[in-house]
Amino acid sequence: MNETTLAAAHAKQDAHLLDTYGSPPVMFVRGKGTVLTDTTGQEYLDFLSGLAVTSLGHGHPAVTAAVSAQMRTLVHTSNLFLTEPMLDLADDLAWIAGWDDGKVFFAQCGATANEAALKLARRHGLAQSPDKIRVVTLSGSFHGRTMVTLEATGQPEKHERFLPMAGWVDTVPYDDPAALEAAVTDQTCAVLLECVQGEGGVRPLSPEMLAAARRACDEHGALLIIDEVQTGMGRTGTWFAFQQTAVEPDVITVAKALANGLPIGACIARGQATKAFQPGDHATTFGGNPVTAAAARAVIRTITEEDLLTNVTAREAQLRGLVGTLDPALGVAGVRGRGLLLGLDLEAPTAKAVEIACRERFLVVGAIGDHTIRLAPPLNVSDVEVRTAITILGDALAAVAAVTPERA
Ligand SMILES: *Cc1c(COP(=O)(O)O)cnc(C)c1O
Repeated sequence: MNETTLAAAHAKQDAHLLDTYGSPPVMFVRGKGTVLTDTTGQEYLDFLSGLAVTSLGHGHPAVTAAVSAQMRTLVHTSNLFLTEPMLDLADDLAWIAGWDDGKVFFAQCGATANEAALKLARRHGLAQSPDKIRVVTLSGSFHGRTMVTLEATGQPEKHERFLPMAGWVDTVPYDDPAALEAAVTDQTCAVLLECVQGEGGVRPLSPEMLAAARRACDEHGALLIIDEVQTGMGRTGTWFAFQQTAVEPDVITVAKALANGLPIGACIARGQATKAFQPGDHATTFGGNPVTAAAARAVIRTITEEDLLTNVTAREAQLRGLVGTLDPALGVAGVRGRGLLLGLDLEAPTAKAVEIACRERFLVVGAIGDHTIRLAPPLNVSDVEVRTAITILGDALAAVAAVTPERA
């Protein structure tokens, strides 16, 4: 049954999906909490949350109820009209950002939230000088796959098949504060970075790097944009990752977990950055859609009511502790990251093999590059689930180490 269903799915994929995603070895048909169920009825423990998206777990009743109620009430009007869920969500977002003067533009995903932020920065720069259009980003960063956000993504291998880029981005090493400060000039309208690089391998930036970015932006009248698409919405133990640092950005972008799996993005500005856009400067048909906005409000309410930020910190400590008890022979070099966005650093280039071995033991985790396993369980994951996951991970690491004993 599994083989047939999966083979049929792959045949349909080959027939009518453009070739961007490879052939996944499993297809899920249902999700509940931290559990995913595949086509055979086999259950998996989900420690990836659809790439840090389903942060309340699958099918959270508060989100389902909010979405169902809004579906019955009003689904879409376009931005020719105001809708209540959008207004209330903007209010909620300003509150969790801690910005009384916070103002929001709603998009559909991380890339379109970053597009909005970059257009805002372009306006901010042009209002000062006609050549103030450059953006500084960091090596290893990830900001999306549209042409603009692709250019801002500091991973040249993702550019290669789409050259030429437009040429307004300067990329500096993610761990070189002096290079960052040198790259920001009077022609820079924004510095764009993640506090913890997600797709780049779950790499937290140093406090020196963040301080350098803030300083350089202040010196040259540029906006500091922090991409919180992956780190936001409680993932790192605070509502946003910047809240654990000494810097205050001018703009943040949010998406992934904002509506627990429904497509939404938001660009949130404060201070002078709120003045850059004027009517007609930017728009999008689905932005602030009532149904996704209602879902996002339910997410914020649930994280607050269930005190999930506290759980994130407790489960992080538990996870780090348990990984520390694994046999050193299993080749775990360390754990990077913040909260429940963690990267297990492997001594050997076996990340893909470990991901597969975990899946064969019914644990979903994700390899990033050759040496890192990303763990991003839901924020409400239980201590029993964490213990189960680390036991499975230990078994998977042992199985992989038995086949590939060499370290690289
Ligand atoms: C996933 C991600 C994006 C892109 O989001 P999409 O919803 O895929 O467009 C942008 N920035 C960061 C940090 C991300 O993790």
